[in-house]
Amino acid sequence: MGHDAGMEHPKDYVLRTVEERHVRFVQLWFTDVLGAPKSIQITPAELEVALDEGITFDGSSIDGFSRVQESDVLARPDVRTFQLLPYLADGTPTARVVCDIVDLGGTPLDGDPRQVLRRALDRARDLGFSFFAAPEMEYFYFAGSGRPGDAGGGVAPPVPLDHGSYFDLTTNDLGSELRRQTVLALEEMGIPVGSNQHEDAPSQHEVDLRYTDALTMADTIMTVRMVVKELAARRGVVASFMPKPLVGVQGSGMHLHLSLFRGGTNAFYDEEDDYHLSGVARRFIAGVLRHARELTAVTNQWVNSYKRLIVGYEAPVYISWARNNRSALVRVPPTKAGRRDSTRVEYRAPDPACNPYLALAAVLSAGLAGVERGYDLPAPLATNLYELTADERRALGIEALPGSLGDAVASLERSELMAGALGEHVFEWFVRNKRAEWNDYKAEVTPFELHRYLPTL
Ligand code: GLU
Ligand code: MG
Repeated sequence: MGHDAGMEHPKDYVLRTVEERHVRFVQLWFTDVLGAPKSIQITPAELEVALDEGITFDGSSIDGFSRVQESDVLARPDVRTFQLLPYLADGTPTARVVCDIVDLGGTPLDGDPRQVLRRALDRARDLGFSFFAAPEMEYFYFAGSGRPGDAGGGVAPPVPLDHGSYFDLTTNDLGSELRRQTVLALEEMGIPVGSNQHEDAPSQHEVDLRYTDALTMADTIMTVRMVVKELAARRGVVASFMPKPLVGVQGSGMHLHLSLFRGGTNAFYDEEDDYHLSGVARRFIAGVLRHARELTAVTNQWVNSYKRLIVGYEAPVYISWARNNRSALVRVPPTKAGRRDSTRVEYRAPDPACNPYLALAAVLSAGLAGVERGYDLPAPLATNLYELTADERRALGIEALPGSLGDAVASLERSELMAGALGEHVFEWFVRNKRAEWNDYKAEVTPFELHRYLPTL
């Protein structure tokens, strides 16, 4: 991605670039089941062997990867993902390459999220489709200790850097400056940024990426989170993708713009249709809606994710679709004349703290189920869903997304579709891990309760 290797073999390009750019370290990146970035750093001397054979490490030390008895695994670099990292503080020329995780016999590891997405993409390919995605990534900047390298933690409640709002054009504002530096670093890495702006809440920003194939995009989302945090930490600022860090203002979503292509043609586009949506697009939306409750634990995987999915903040709560209505779960952005490739559906539930590999695999699998099984798409909703009463919603047959992580895990656990999409190993591990998180949370006595009940009860 991002470079033009011409006819040169990708491996030769990597070795040549490492030499010409005096690269001192190469980071081998991969991701655990909950979406935490992991890296093994090697020197150029080890690179060629790493590219040919992979690097062995103890997979049992990574959350969700492998069981102790089969602990040794290989990180095998995907050479096409090689990139210089222009944002590192000390300026030492460093590059990264994203890895697939395989067992010592070369079989893809069930616990590797990148593998889960690859499998879902293979299923799409079997049906003749390639899957493209573009996220809108929202996040906050908070005051840190002011010391470079501060990664946050225990900053409670977090303090915004500004009091700006949607599209504010401010001068001399550190958040906007950091965002600009981030966009420049991303573009230097060959990651095309669409637009970027101040978001609604104080110190909340958004970076929108141009669409690419979904595997590249999942790698890119990991990279963006890293670059945003790293550049902020250098200035002693804490950048956070936490879904709802502040009470009473918007949370951070990661709306996903999705499309299926067949050959070079957008399979979601139909000239004749009122909304320019093809039958494939309609059935895809129907699939995503029908399975939305089952996949929400994956796209919104933390206790805190459900503090965002509440009424009144432009985050979806009810399972519905609409042409252009920000309270709907699926929105179909209008297609500009002559831009058939841009016909897409926007899935608005995910937050930027999800595991992007698993989230894209889950949403794709739900959409494909709709396409394969020929689900009918219900009528779009024109009304603001937040304003309907419970009776009106019931009459319209509109269900709600899970209201809590516990509720979401219960729906996930019963989902055959998600068991198939994630694979048995990840599915079981994830359900177990998330149920444990929910139980930990339930056992807490929160400041809310003490404040509200202790004086009177
Ligand atoms: N911040 C909102 C969310 O949580 C989205 C605002 C927007 O429409 O960009 O999804
Ligand atoms: Mg936004």
